[in-house]
Amino acid sequence: MSLITGLSDRYPHLGFDGRPLAIECDDGWLGILHAFFADADKSMGAGGTFTLLQVRETMGGLRIHYATAEVESDVGRAIADACRQGSARSFHICEVCGRRGRLHSFHGLRKVVCSEHADGELDKGVPFEGPFNAHDPYSPEADPFVGARPTVAEFDAAPIIEAWLIEEQGEGGPRPWLYGWFFGQPDISDGDHGHTSPIVQMDDMAPPRWVRTDSRLYRLGIYYPPAEREIRYWAQKQARRPLAHGEPPGGSNDIEAMLIFLRSSGRLRSTKIDRMEQAYREEQERHKLSRG
Ligand SMILES: [Zn+2]
Repeated sequence: MSLITGLSDRYPHLGFDGRPLAIECDDGWLGILHAFFADADKSMGAGGTFTLLQVRETMGGLRIHYATAEVESDVGRAIADACRQGSARSFHICEVCGRRGRLHSFHGLRKVVCSEHADGELDKGVPFEGPFNAHDPYSPEADPFVGARPTVAEFDAAPIIEAWLIEEQGEGGPRPWLYGWFFGQPDISDGDHGHTSPIVQMDDMAPPRWVRTDSRLYRLGIYYPPAEREIRYWAQKQARRPLAHGEPPGGSNDIEAMLIFLRSSGRLRSTKIDRMEQAYREEQERHKLSRG
């Protein structure tokens, strides 16, 4: 069972209250659920009421039970289609981790898992065909939501980006991309800093572990909040050498020492360092508050 929070803010037309929603499936399917909620919320903008009754795993697949009232018939059909699509997708996405998966039988218990999660603690899952409907037009290969997800083998072979950061582009600009230090990327020297091509899809687990861009799949390494990351970036840049894999950018986890180093190096304007320090202090404060 998982708890999802923040639904009333994200989907204002679906009648969620402020309480967390309990769902009876694993986190790997959260992305499917959010895609369904986004579709339903868009449809319900036209009026009527939507009530989510239950989300659970049945016979290996995702089932979303809901009720609508006072909706136009085309709205009702659109939501039913989105619900069916969510179910169809679930048979190709690992319920545990969100990578590509297939239905397995664990001594008769059905679960959709990737090859890594087919190796259970107690026994090994056996791939299982069905229950697919020959008349169902759904094709996972034609659905980018499923098709962009890595298999375990592809994930394991992918280059890694450490201390990654999403660069959002302006309205109407190109799609966002990621900055970071690259390792195992054939076209970039290990430990060099750079950016990817535009993002196609990103892992919906928290924290995300992969991103697919126009050119390739990457594994995602460690994440630092943006203000801390900026100080690390400049400290690493002033050190004038590539990052070693496993080493934190900036050479340590001592941000105060990095600020002193940056001020003493004299290569950055002091107003720029003041601004970075201010943003870092505020970020630390917010972090403290959010942790209670
Ligand atoms: Zn998995």
